[in-house]
Amino acid sequence: MSELPDSRPEAAEIQRTGILFSGIQPSGNIHIGNYCGAIRNWVRLLDDYHCIFSIVDYHAITAPYDPSIMQARIRQATLANIAAGLDPERCLIFVQSQVPEHTELTWIFNTLTPMGLLGRMTQFKEKSRRSEENINVGLYDYPVLQAADVLLYRAEAVPVGEDQVQHIEFTRDLARKFNLRFEPYFPEPQALVPSSGARILGLDGKSKMSKSLDNYIGLLEEPEAIWEKLRPAVTDEKRIRRSDPGEPGDCNIYTIHQCFSPPEVQEWVVDGCRSAGIGCIDCKRKLHEHMMNVLDPIRERAKELERKPEVVDEALARGARECRVRAAATMEDVRRITGLR
Ligand code: SF4
Repeated sequence: MSELPDSRPEAAEIQRTGILFSGIQPSGNIHIGNYCGAIRNWVRLLDDYHCIFSIVDYHAITAPYDPSIMQARIRQATLANIAAGLDPERCLIFVQSQVPEHTELTWIFNTLTPMGLLGRMTQFKEKSRRSEENINVGLYDYPVLQAADVLLYRAEAVPVGEDQVQHIEFTRDLARKFNLRFEPYFPEPQALVPSSGARILGLDGKSKMSKSLDNYIGLLEEPEAIWEKLRPAVTDEKRIRRSDPGEPGDCNIYTIHQCFSPPEVQEWVVDGCRSAGIGCIDCKRKLHEHMMNVLDPIRERAKELERKPEVVDEALARGARECRVRAAATMEDVRRITGLR
């Protein structure tokens, strides 16, 4: 497992072969937790790797969903990610189901995967606890499809959050197993995990930021709407009166500052909070100001992309075209290696 952005030596090593793969959930409502935890790291990696991003609709349908809005979700996720910095001139973005080799490689990997191993995956156990009525085979097989996503492009780097590290370990094991069973072919990809900053929580300061819990700030929300959400957001709960000193390490607002505000502002927060020199509203106003420095240009780009839908269409068409060629080449090798052709 590598860390970002402080893992330059390991990253440089991978750079020589240089393919990075990451999946993007087709969510119609990308929030600042997604931006701070994933997208801004991907943007930093565009110069270091040949980056491939897949809108993972096959993964998304393992949870209950409305087919009539799936295409809108795919489009909105693509648009928001391009607006946030995934420049389609510098990377490939495509829709997973437009490259059928993902499921073909999954089937071959299924034959190398012990059932018990999938049943023990932490994310499967958590998801099946949450969706008791829909524990489908797709949910169970999710890590195998994820391994196929990565290895189909013979990617060597996969930027992930802590919760996905187990799946990348699984992918490495699967690559090793394939190479031992047949012949050396797949690289063992590295998980690139952001090293800096705690994970942003929802505005309740307790749970993960998510649309379903209604505790989120959307990446493309208007400044006034963001302030209306930020103003009552939970802070360090021990700081009851303005005169009470607080602890930024126990406050989600400070975690968000770490994503959006420059170091000198973060220092101002730490000093002011611990000495009770600033109030929480002062702190949030300053945060809002710095959030807007980052989010205003993203929102403007998103509006421009809405006016020019051909940019998203062309990005997805080019991504699918190029990924089909790469995927077909891998599958031709895999069929030969496994004796299927
Ligand atoms: S001053 Fe800022 S960091 Fe401190 S408790 Fe208030 S909002 Fe949180």
